[in-house]
Amino acid sequence: MTDKELVIQLREELRQHNHNYYVLDNPTISDFDFDMKLKQLQILEAQHPELYDPNSPTLRVGGEVTKNFQTVVHAHRMYSLDNSYSKDDLLDWETRIKKLVDGPIRYTCELKYDGASISITYKNGTLFQALTRGDGTQGDDVTANIKTIKSVPLKLRGDYPDNFEIRGEIILPFEGFEAMNKERISAGEEPYKNPRNTASGSLKLQDSSEVAKRPLECLLYSIVGENTGIKSQFDNLEKARSWGFKVPKEAKCVQSIDEVLQFVEYWDLARHNLPYETDGIVIKVNDLQQQAELGYTAKAPRWAMAYKFKAAQVSTKLNHISYQVGRTGAITPVANLEPVELAGTIVKRASLHNADQIAKLDVRLGDTVFVEKGGEIIPKIMGIDLSKRPEQSQPTVYISQCPECHNPLFRTEGEAQHYCINTEGCPPQIIGRIQHYISRKALDIEGLGGETVALLVNAGLIKDVADLYTLNIDDVLPLERMAQKSAENLIYGIEASKQIPFERVLFGLGIRYVGETVAKTLAKHFKSVGALSQARIEDLEAVDEIGIKIAESVYHFFRNENNIRLVSRLVSYGVQLELSKEALANQTTLLSGERIVVSGVFEAISRNELKALIEANGGKVVSSISAKTTYLVAGTNMGPSKRQKAEQLKIPILTEQEFLEKF
Ligand code: AMP
Ligand code: ZN
Repeated sequence: MTDKELVIQLREELRQHNHNYYVLDNPTISDFDFDMKLKQLQILEAQHPELYDPNSPTLRVGGEVTKNFQTVVHAHRMYSLDNSYSKDDLLDWETRIKKLVDGPIRYTCELKYDGASISITYKNGTLFQALTRGDGTQGDDVTANIKTIKSVPLKLRGDYPDNFEIRGEIILPFEGFEAMNKERISAGEEPYKNPRNTASGSLKLQDSSEVAKRPLECLLYSIVGENTGIKSQFDNLEKARSWGFKVPKEAKCVQSIDEVLQFVEYWDLARHNLPYETDGIVIKVNDLQQQAELGYTAKAPRWAMAYKFKAAQVSTKLNHISYQVGRTGAITPVANLEPVELAGTIVKRASLHNADQIAKLDVRLGDTVFVEKGGEIIPKIMGIDLSKRPEQSQPTVYISQCPECHNPLFRTEGEAQHYCINTEGCPPQIIGRIQHYISRKALDIEGLGGETVALLVNAGLIKDVADLYTLNIDDVLPLERMAQKSAENLIYGIEASKQIPFERVLFGLGIRYVGETVAKTLAKHFKSVGALSQARIEDLEAVDEIGIKIAESVYHFFRNENNIRLVSRLVSYGVQLELSKEALANQTTLLSGERIVVSGVFEAISRNELKALIEANGGKVVSSISAKTTYLVAGTNMGPSKRQKAEQLKIPILTEQEFLEKF
């Protein structure tokens, strides 16, 4: 086989595997084999620049940077949809359209996906251009970003038309959204508010490799084109699916408005079990000939109607507003409510976000408020029932002092949050930082929990993480519920944390924007806290994956005297603030490209040590089993479902011994 033939074959194969994995949710090869094939293709492509193909599977990782998105006029306008909110609205719509077309009308009912609309043009079976909706007549060219979304086919299969547009919604499933937020929170950043805004914000990121990292999906719902030869909306969906697009299977073709109502009623409840947000149902006249007869109003098609679900909402009384102080000093106001049931759970608290939000709502103590549960986990206050406002109520005055340490609060221009800047003297900040330091992904100190940290701080025994290393058994014994055995465990756990590798200590320091991954990158690159603390902003920025925000944050952290003192005390107590000799010597590529799941309890080596060993040898530790997993290292007491899944996908299972023999 010539190199050219091999390249073509590899592209074909990888495309099929992408399709199986991202569109059909049914992978058929291991992650390792996939990566090997991808690597092989990358090498061949590098040797043969003449075989360049903008739609090659190797280009999924992005990399193209767009400074200004080009505005492009839509070949076919992107209309909005008329909304309905009740059965009567739908019956009225049916009466209206029955006057305009002959014959019986069938309907296709679809879920209304809540994300950002996109229109993608395909020419001769390859992705040509992707545009945002914009104002409906013209949108922005976001092709480079859309190409990184794995469920969007770059090349089509089957009997597709030469030239057509397909429309869909870019969404972020709840699971991926929550994973993204977990990372942000662990890096000390504000979590994203909801999946929809995050999805639509993603389309406008300048660096497409950033988009590639986000677990976005594209769900398709309509084909637009001159001569597609398709006769109905339902066929549209089936065709699109056969060409390789992700088209949800929930859509249904029905004979009457009564059946439409049944569909609506069913999904009003069942939507809560979907992996992504839906805000309604879209009902479309099925026959494309009838659609053409009905045509469009100035704003929307006459042949389609959205039915909007009512968000689950209740009213209840606001008892008081409390203010929480985070580990970074950020203040978050919280509404404490008279407990009330909402969509199956009891709600006692709602988020108020910040001072602006309180002012905008003009929410006051004693008010009866409307609480709603949307895409967010914490319910929101949507408005106030003014008819129930107590007579003497006064506007809420936002606090000007920290509720915990009474220092004045500050707010930087452009930031929504107030901050308490008394970093060294504010108890929740002190406690929060230590809790972060001992947390599982940082120093993971056994025998020490978040509550004990608070007890230790409140008893005046510690005020920073270095103080932990000065504690002895007699210090901690007088604490509430502290027996001899638990005191010993605690001190032993602190001692043992001196073996935790540099990158996790660095993460534990809680430098703003330095999450787990960034800490790893920095540790690998600078190798010691000394080198890191000397780095200039431009040195930091020159490191792969480190942007200006992180660079500035790290730089300023090490220009603060208190931080310098803290770090040098940690060094003097023997905490790992540089890569260990073994880590430096052991950095091998023995496991490079392998994705390994670790599960259960181990004997010769702790779970965290095992993970560190994998990473030091170039492997990747992944948390859940998929077809792309290379193998599973199983300790005792591994969950039966994990084993079952591994067996199902034929992922090799290694014992602790078998794994360690590799080294
Ligand atoms: P609206 O933004 O409320 O005018 O609703 C119209 C938008 O709903 C369209 O621009 C689409 O992005 C979106 N949408 C979501 N799911 C569907 C669907 N199944 N069919 C048509 N439009 C949909
Ligand atoms: Zn404070």
